[in-house]
Amino acid sequence: MSIQDSLQQKLGRVIAEASNEEIYSALLKIVQEMAKGKERPEKKKKLYYISAEFLIGKLLSNNMINLGIYNEVRDVLAANGKDICEIEEVEPEPSLGNGGLGRLAACFLDSISTLGLSGDGIGLNYHLGLFKQEFENELQKETPNPWIENESWLVKTDVSYPVSFKGMTLNSRMYDIEVTGYNNMTNKLHLFDVETVDEDIVENGIDFDKEDIEKNLTLFLYPDDSDEKGRLLRIYQQYFMVSNGARLILDECTAKGCSLYDLPDYAVIQINDTHPTMVIPELIRLLMERGMEMDDAIGVVSRTCAYTNHTILAEALEKWPLGYLKKVVPQLVPIIEVLDDKVRRKYADESVAVIDRNDTVHMAHIDIHYGFSVNGVAALHTEILKQNELNNFYKIYPEKFNNKTNGITFRRWLLHCNPLLTEMLDFIIGKGYRSDAKQLERLLNFRGDQNVLSRLQEIKKANKEKLCEYLMETQGIKLNSDSIFDIQVKRLHEYKRQQMNALYVIHKYLEIKAGKLPATPITVIFGAKAAPAYIIAKDIIHLILCLQEVINNDPEVSPYLKVVMVENYNVTKAEKLIPACDISEQISLASKEASGTGNMKFMLNGAVTLGTDDGANVEIHELVGDENIFVFGASSDEVIEHYAKADYISREYYEKDADIKAAVDFITSEKVLAVGNAENLTRLQNELLKKDWFMTLLDFKAYAKKKEEAFKAYENKNEWAKKMLVNIAKAGYFSSDRTIEEYNRDIWKL
Ligand SMILES: *Cc1c(COP(=O)(O)O)cnc(C)c1O
Repeated sequence: MSIQDSLQQKLGRVIAEASNEEIYSALLKIVQEMAKGKERPEKKKKLYYISAEFLIGKLLSNNMINLGIYNEVRDVLAANGKDICEIEEVEPEPSLGNGGLGRLAACFLDSISTLGLSGDGIGLNYHLGLFKQEFENELQKETPNPWIENESWLVKTDVSYPVSFKGMTLNSRMYDIEVTGYNNMTNKLHLFDVETVDEDIVENGIDFDKEDIEKNLTLFLYPDDSDEKGRLLRIYQQYFMVSNGARLILDECTAKGCSLYDLPDYAVIQINDTHPTMVIPELIRLLMERGMEMDDAIGVVSRTCAYTNHTILAEALEKWPLGYLKKVVPQLVPIIEVLDDKVRRKYADESVAVIDRNDTVHMAHIDIHYGFSVNGVAALHTEILKQNELNNFYKIYPEKFNNKTNGITFRRWLLHCNPLLTEMLDFIIGKGYRSDAKQLERLLNFRGDQNVLSRLQEIKKANKEKLCEYLMETQGIKLNSDSIFDIQVKRLHEYKRQQMNALYVIHKYLEIKAGKLPATPITVIFGAKAAPAYIIAKDIIHLILCLQEVINNDPEVSPYLKVVMVENYNVTKAEKLIPACDISEQISLASKEASGTGNMKFMLNGAVTLGTDDGANVEIHELVGDENIFVFGASSDEVIEHYAKADYISREYYEKDADIKAAVDFITSEKVLAVGNAENLTRLQNELLKKDWFMTLLDFKAYAKKKEEAFKAYENKNEWAKKMLVNIAKAGYFSSDRTIEEYNRDIWKL
């Protein structure tokens, strides 16, 4: 049946008369049926990707692209007076992730299906997501982000397990989302839920009774953990996720006739960061329950689990007091004690213990000792793990450590979000790059082709205009599409240094006030959510929103400089912002950003990176060469040395440099205080002057200088277009298809 006919049949009337909501719901059903027909038959060995987050984004268009019906649907709709973009707007974005780590998991699922590998995701079905960000009085306000509707991508299954905690057993329910591959079969994302969850216990913002586990367990991703109740809730969530996952894995393997001793031949479990670590002791427990000796169980599990590390920030490496585990999951405690005991018998080094002298359990240490692979997510990150952060482990297990530089799915981050660029690429280099990303390099042959360079500029301009319309509609902000779009969108964290960009904005504002005008107007766009309990991060948002008020309303300055903070940054917004970007801000303190994937998305869409030699920026730099990237700042070695010697004093930089002083002083100037709060602004200023743990002032001058260079380079439109072209051409390496091929070759061996 043609798309036209099946749509009409589902709608029960002609397309032209149906509402966008009805069309969305009909398409959802059509896509689900098609995906269901493409489910992968069970193979012997299967990957299970366990993750607290899956930041999957809206699914309709991507699924239609992967199933090969997108163009046909778009054209049928257009012929009936309907716009596919408006249909897309009807779909709520699933709220199952927070940032890069969750988006990575989503890109991986796409590539696993696309490459025809047998692999499912396992996670939790958070009803209210992380939170929805609203701006009120120049402050971030958090509200629930419900996304599950009567008709959604979730399919209820009959899989349910009783999960026991101390003094309580909760029944789970598994929901599945089909994960379509590009021109291939589909896998599944399994999301576990508690049957007793109750959204009505949430009141005024995102508050709820943290002790009402039956009702709250799957309400929010990363509930506030600033008190003990919150931390216990996170343990409830983590155990619920892994206990369900472990049982599903054992059930699926035994259904295939696997003897439990042969588990590693049937299953490989990729542990995405430390949140799912308890899957290791839980699997050991379940195997023992099914009659296996403990030592055998430990051996089997250790050959089944592999761990991905995502950060070198010490505070992010999860640790739980043993006492907390006793309160929630006492059944795991004797197992974790044995795991610790075995390590202590072998290694005298206290720093590699599972349970330290303060009775704190180090989750990453469990993963490293009792998994067969430990990988970092970019070359520099893996080197730092080996030589610094995890050096004591690397000395014990050099063979376990390996690098898997992150990647992104081009289906979403090019085909879907940038149709104009896709069309141009199809036309000049053929469509092969869609599944063989390396073919993008063919674009290099067109570096001297004036038509191609002009077309690239036209496409960028069109994407900027589209973004302008969107920001006008959604936030009532008027932007100039002829200005330079300088964009920094990512979670808010001091190590990512949005505060450095904000100081630059102040610097530029003061320059313009003093009569020094930029050759081309500049638009600085931010987008970021701050964790609700992260005070300084929220102060940085406050400063940016105040600057937006002050600068955009200053008639002397606003023709030359505009600042926008996009509300509720998420995948949907990313898809609109990234294709419209000229300069991609990747300015983390060197050594602190494990990889970044935003940097890759921007590059693929023809933005030029302004960044530090950090994370995957290092690899971008190597690929595009010095001419096609703007790199500045202290190196990771220098930064690591500053920390080792504790010799960085931010105030010295403030006192010795007039520009830095002027910018930092401006934070609490009359102009900013007129629109903002003294408490937030003073606290932020003090942080910069007295701590500045992420060395903003150290790199500020180098940053400002490099940014001027980038703006100057932009003036030569043709040379800039060549930079765009090289960035697009060299982005092939960052396809998640490449990353997944490497995971499979080196770790999963499916
Ligand atoms: C890609 C992506 C991220 C990760 O961005 P980084 O710059 O790598 O931190 C975060 N959030 C969303 C919505 C994304 O799409």
